[in-house]
Amino acid sequence: MITKFIKRILRRDPMVKHTQANNTGAPKRIPKKAHRIDPHLLSKNAVKVTHTLQQAGYEAFIVGGAVRDLALGIGPKDFDVATNATPDQVQRLFRKARLIGRRFQIVHVTFFGKGHPEIIEVSTFRALLDNAGDHVAESGRILRDNVWGSQGEDAARRDFTINAMYYDPSSETVLDYHGGMADMQKKTLRMIGDPAKRYREDPVRMLRAVRFAAKTGFELDSATRAPIAKLGKLLNDVPSARLFDEILKLLMSGYSWAAIQGLKDAGLHHGLLPLLDHILDKGEDSKGANDFVKLALANTDDRIQSGKSVSAGFLFATLLWPDLLKNWKANSAKGMANIPALHDAMDGTIATQSSGMTIQRRFESDMREIWSMQPRFERRVGRYPYRLIESPRFRAGYDFMLLRCATGELNPAIGQWWTDFIAAEPTGQDELMASVKNELGNSQSPAKRRRRRKPKSAVPPESAAS
Ligand code: ATP
Ligand code: MG
Repeated sequence: MITKFIKRILRRDPMVKHTQANNTGAPKRIPKKAHRIDPHLLSKNAVKVTHTLQQAGYEAFIVGGAVRDLALGIGPKDFDVATNATPDQVQRLFRKARLIGRRFQIVHVTFFGKGHPEIIEVSTFRALLDNAGDHVAESGRILRDNVWGSQGEDAARRDFTINAMYYDPSSETVLDYHGGMADMQKKTLRMIGDPAKRYREDPVRMLRAVRFAAKTGFELDSATRAPIAKLGKLLNDVPSARLFDEILKLLMSGYSWAAIQGLKDAGLHHGLLPLLDHILDKGEDSKGANDFVKLALANTDDRIQSGKSVSAGFLFATLLWPDLLKNWKANSAKGMANIPALHDAMDGTIATQSSGMTIQRRFESDMREIWSMQPRFERRVGRYPYRLIESPRFRAGYDFMLLRCATGELNPAIGQWWTDFIAAEPTGQDELMASVKNELGNSQSPAKRRRRRKPKSAVPPESAAS
């Protein structure tokens, strides 16, 4: 009798402890001919993970952003799997599986192939939490949510309807709990549940709304957009590391310029990055700065959309460059020598960022390297160019310098010279060096030439302007 009872319980709920079901009806089952997901866009490893879990008797689906992207016909950049197996149960099924996180305990299953290793993130269906108990802060913000739930509950705690679809590669069926597919057709981004409540639970969802709108080109549904104006200030309570991660995702989305405009339209840019306030609020006053940043972001978007890598350090170096340039010039005007003026300006620029979201240390050193390399591109004498080309971050510094040329801040002939110098054989490089000597010889008076030979470290920023 008791064993029968236990068996029944186990059968009903074999893997996870469920909480009370919560406004979670049956999903719509969408067959292949309706969703038209191309199986070639699937990651083989993600399919391996769902198969392994299913063969062990669990439910397993590709979920979230990957299904959204697949339905849009875009190859997802990463794949998440959702299952009713607990993290421990998942871990036992895979050789290279690691449990991570506390707030969201998940399992990373790693596959080593030809290129980079691929990590498939496997999470257990989670429950919806109500506003009671120690999971929720006074503001309504969710602090921890490791309570397992049914698939329907897992769907309801996701953010947007288009992010809450589950795809089973075996049956090629999409399970859609919140009308995500219909919203995809209407090109609408709609928050699941009561938007204001969902933003209070997690204010970062407001930034996500802007990011996904920029990425998909979809419109925010009016009820999803409306509370943002009033609730935007809740972003101040979000830990800065999390905010930073989200802003980084936004900048690296491949649609960063559109996303930044979206932040401005939603009134969300204040206090996220002082530089955004700077660029977006000043309009025509900062046109030059705006041009530089716009070009840098367009360049980043292009790289990301064509599958190239982008370093966050590089990106932040570009975003902060106009501010740095202003500080550098101000220091030079005060009579500081060129290189100390640059280094002092770098400290100043980085310090102003710490009033909002702090830029993490690992990016800071990249930024400093890229910046401090800039005057060195103008020192095309003696052994300097040969040494510069060997520095480990040369490529980033060079790409950065080309951006400066493209906006006319630096003479484009210098950029071209370096492009030729990189491509040239040693004899060609020597000829290029000689050409600089001639150029300087022709264009400078003897007095100026004498001054250049002094061990002065570089050209002041004023002369950098074309
Ligand atoms: P991307 O293409 O940028 O990775 P994504 O939709 O996959 O987009 P992730 O941050 O990787 O975004 O999150 C995966 C999924 O987890 C989302 O699609 C969504 O279902 C859910 N999710 C993530 N963050 C939140 C959040 N703050 N609130 C609710 N659900 C979330
Ligand atoms: Mg994702």
